[in-house]
Amino acid sequence: MKITHLESSAEFIILKQTHSLVVLDFYSEDCPPCEKLAPIYEQMAKAFPEIMFIKAFRQGHRALAESLGVSGSPTVLFFKDGELLDYYLSGYIEEQDFKTILETISGKSGLSDLTADNKKIEQYDLCIIGNGPAGLAAAVYAARYKIDQLLIGDLPGGLMTSSHKICNFPSEIEISGTDLTQKMLNKVVALEVPQKFARVNLIKQIGEFYELTLSSGEMVRAKKILLATGTKHRHLNLPNDQALVGRGVSYCATCDAMFYANKIVAVIGGSDSANTAALYLAKVAKQVYQIYRNDSLRGEVAWIDQIKADDKITVLYSTKVTEIIGEKQVTGLKIDKPYNGLTDLSVDGIFVEVGSEPDQTLINQLSLEIDEGHYIKTQANQMTSRASVWAAGDITTGSDGFRQIITAGAEGAIAIASIFKQLQAKK
Ligand code: NAP
Repeated sequence: MKITHLESSAEFIILKQTHSLVVLDFYSEDCPPCEKLAPIYEQMAKAFPEIMFIKAFRQGHRALAESLGVSGSPTVLFFKDGELLDYYLSGYIEEQDFKTILETISGKSGLSDLTADNKKIEQYDLCIIGNGPAGLAAAVYAARYKIDQLLIGDLPGGLMTSSHKICNFPSEIEISGTDLTQKMLNKVVALEVPQKFARVNLIKQIGEFYELTLSSGEMVRAKKILLATGTKHRHLNLPNDQALVGRGVSYCATCDAMFYANKIVAVIGGSDSANTAALYLAKVAKQVYQIYRNDSLRGEVAWIDQIKADDKITVLYSTKVTEIIGEKQVTGLKIDKPYNGLTDLSVDGIFVEVGSEPDQTLINQLSLEIDEGHYIKTQANQMTSRASVWAAGDITTGSDGFRQIITAGAEGAIAIASIFKQLQAKK
């Protein structure tokens, strides 16, 4: 089934009445999780042709979004016989969660449809897993060394795309994360690097090859692996933190800031991501509380100076959030240190920016050696503890733990030089 792009609320009412099962995705501009969801949404529409899949540009359907209680992008809603179901997905949506809901509401399995025409196994000398700055830089170097490579990733640019303004990349005065990603992707495309926009779900060694199973159902094999999958957002681990994602809790200021025009928001965290999110939100929100567990902000001093000069931002130091208040929508939060005599703060939105950590799935499957923070231990040439597996970027212990776009790119380049030497030695 092809996806319908919604033109009006009236069209939605008709589609809802004329189709038993309807899925509706609200997406926004400058929204990395929306880009991550897009190919998954297409796959699901293909696997479940009996369901009507609709996409609605949130900014163009503001009233409809509000009437359905949507306050985050992307948000996916499910309807049966015209009624809104309780199932609900928002933020960085995982393919498996989406598929499970579709299988439940439709009563059929979509998995076989996804894998049916993907049985051929392609082989490469090198698979780069992850298409953030480390993977993209590595792909450029590998192309210049003429390595037989495949670049696989589900979100070009990775977490870099969440930055509304990058001011420390040497070639740019200032640039957004999405624009810098586009420039890096342009270079990879110009070099004709083979790419697959998917997630690697499973990796195992078979003889001299590593065999990868992708979220698209495809399988590929490679002699050498470069893991550049970066990190994923750390959660607050409060009881309703995850349940309220898209209903007042957000992990992406560039995606969701516009939902909070002239409203009151809180940003949690005190390093670069929280600092840049607070500054970005202060442009549209009425007031921003930045809640930080320590007594002085850290990260780039230039951002900290801007926060101190911004009248809309109030930093609550040495303060922890103990509870998020709200059942269907965030209405406030509780803090452990009174502010103006109160430990309840009324806010419309909460932006969680408490750092990130490596996803352990592939690390565990490969039994790689990690440090106490769960980052992959790498040597100076980016080799891991396992033969024929290298790692680069935020996922490693490299670059003295200084996780930046430029250091991720550098690690990708160093890894390729080492991989090239090994491939040459075997010829
Ligand atoms: P980060 O540097 O690891 O900082 C995480 C922040 O969250 C810290 O302030 C930390 O507090 C706080 N935190 C961690 N766990 C918490 C919890 N459970 N509850 C409350 N607060 C918690 O992460 P990041 O800010 O995402 O930055 C990651 C990397 O990207 C860094 O290398 C950063 O420099 C880079 N980055 C750079 C820019 C830029 O414009 N240059 C922008 C974004 C990110 P403590 O301070 O007490 O540890």
